[in-house]
Amino acid sequence: MTKIEVGFEFRQNPVNRKWVIIAPKRSLRPNIEGGLEPACPFCPGRESWTPKEVFRIGHDGKEDSHWEIRVVPNKFPFAPIHEIITHSPDHDGSLFTYNHEQIKRIFRVYKMRFCEYEKKGQVYIFHNHGPGAAESLPHDHTQLAVIPPNITLDIPIMGEVENQFKDSRHFILSCPNTSEWPYEVWIIPKNRGRTYGEITEEEIDNLAAVYQETLVKMQNFFGVDFSFNHYIYPGGDWYLRLIPRVKVPGGFELGTGVFVNTVDPKTAAKQLSE
Ligand SMILES: [Zn+2]
Repeated sequence: MTKIEVGFEFRQNPVNRKWVIIAPKRSLRPNIEGGLEPACPFCPGRESWTPKEVFRIGHDGKEDSHWEIRVVPNKFPFAPIHEIITHSPDHDGSLFTYNHEQIKRIFRVYKMRFCEYEKKGQVYIFHNHGPGAAESLPHDHTQLAVIPPNITLDIPIMGEVENQFKDSRHFILSCPNTSEWPYEVWIIPKNRGRTYGEITEEEIDNLAAVYQETLVKMQNFFGVDFSFNHYIYPGGDWYLRLIPRVKVPGGFELGTGVFVNTVDPKTAAKQLSE
């Protein structure tokens, strides 16, 4: 499977053991760079433009345009399993604007797709929103990539909760002392030590609320509809990390992997609590 002909290949640097994915076909993706926006393949009515649907919420069992969330294989994969979860039929909607029920559906679909693949590898679920966050198509979507178990991913693991700024029913929100990005927020379940596949329906309800509340509040700092990423830790002791993309990593970060964070996470937590 790991042949460049299928679109991608995992290669390990023999000196520092770090992995890279070479995926030349991804350069063929439709792109919003250059200003002209191509017709959107994720809009209702264009279902035949994507690879065959693998899952949906709304009109289950049908293949019509009346879906609420739609999951298809990525046409330009960089992993053996790589899916696109289209958040909503609404081309202009986003996690800033969806109603509570729609955000719950999205986090519920994350869980269902996570459980579908957790035995096959490391299920990495991530979202890119906005031009500053590597978004390729503006119709809001999340990606799920299953990375083979032998590929070591260097993802931060959770320690003690630091700089907590919100305590809700099932989640604590914090800005860890060693945050790499200004104002990054970790949403941490109070019931620790589980995978995302074990999230309960009650937790999904609470997560949807604190997640959107945080995003909306951040607009006071970064403006309406700012660029951000989030991902869900793929292993045990899961958390969701939300990163406003208010700066571009420079030459120091790129070479050393050491980030220069210009906002003390203590200050960030204080501001986010107000
Ligand atoms: Zn669209």
